[in-house]
Amino acid sequence: MKVIRTISGLRQELNSLKQTRKDGGSVGLVPTMGFLHAGHASLMTRAREMSDTVVLSIFVNPIQFGPGEDYETYPRDEERDLALAERHGIDIVFIPTVQEMYPKQVKTKIVVSELTSLLCGASRPGHFDGVTTVVSKLINIIKPNRAFFGLKDAQQVAVLQQMVTDLNLDVEIIPCPIIREKDGLALSSRNVYLSQEERTQALILSRSLNDVREAMNCGKATTAAEARLMLNEIIHSAPLAVIEYAEVLSFPELSRVEDDTLLVDLQGQVIMALAVKFGKTRLIDNLLFTPKEVLSLV
Ligand code: AMP
Repeated sequence: MKVIRTISGLRQELNSLKQTRKDGGSVGLVPTMGFLHAGHASLMTRAREMSDTVVLSIFVNPIQFGPGEDYETYPRDEERDLALAERHGIDIVFIPTVQEMYPKQVKTKIVVSELTSLLCGASRPGHFDGVTTVVSKLINIIKPNRAFFGLKDAQQVAVLQQMVTDLNLDVEIIPCPIIREKDGLALSSRNVYLSQEERTQALILSRSLNDVREAMNCGKATTAAEARLMLNEIIHSAPLAVIEYAEVLSFPELSRVEDDTLLVDLQGQVIMALAVKFGKTRLIDNLLFTPKEVLSLV
């Protein structure tokens, strides 16, 4: 496994790898902000299965953090990350400095409209512009055939897929399932911020999603309004939970499903998406489903 910190060094290494293969070989990219856990590991495993060369990037991207967010305190542990990357068969770890990625003030940004104005985009203005800009830079530097992203950040997947389509980027976005702790909490680098009590109460996110899915299955929640109300009520039962949003939307279009819409009538995929704060820690979770399949289990 090579650890490379400069763009020129990475380009050189990728070029020489391409030259050693007759077909050029396929490249898979796994972009992360480090402090790796089993969620990231699942992306690495998928990338390893589908690519000849796997590049893992570790970069805490300052331009996707807003003022007052946790950029400065974001957890970092390079040594542990490298050991995990090695165990997952990564070929190249790209760890640039901020100076390397943004040597001058950024004047060009990639902005995806509409999809970024709701959910996390509403509470974190500019966040997705930072994400799409850094992912475009990584795609331009690495030229991967495929890039792997977790559905834990489902809105991010929708936004990136839109960007790739709109700009005809020659890369396939591969969405990967959410990895959870045994008790249901979605893995996140930010889970380390939670106190013991917050950690216990944070289980309400996955529990509310599962309970509403159950309620749909047995006909207790039939409309989008009922699903939203149930999500809110269940989450409010955790005293420390402060709801930022609990939404029911079509996916990947992210159009709000009208209150009186019968979920069974919806075509395609639907997402129940949550952002909930416990103290200073903001957690997100979601459940993606096809109503016809869920409701036909009745
Ligand atoms: P981050 O380091 O938080 O920017 O995440 C890097 C990538 O890992 C993103 O594509 C995330 O969606 C993905 N990821 C983070 N947590 C999980 C999880 N629990 N399950 C699956 N993918 C995840």
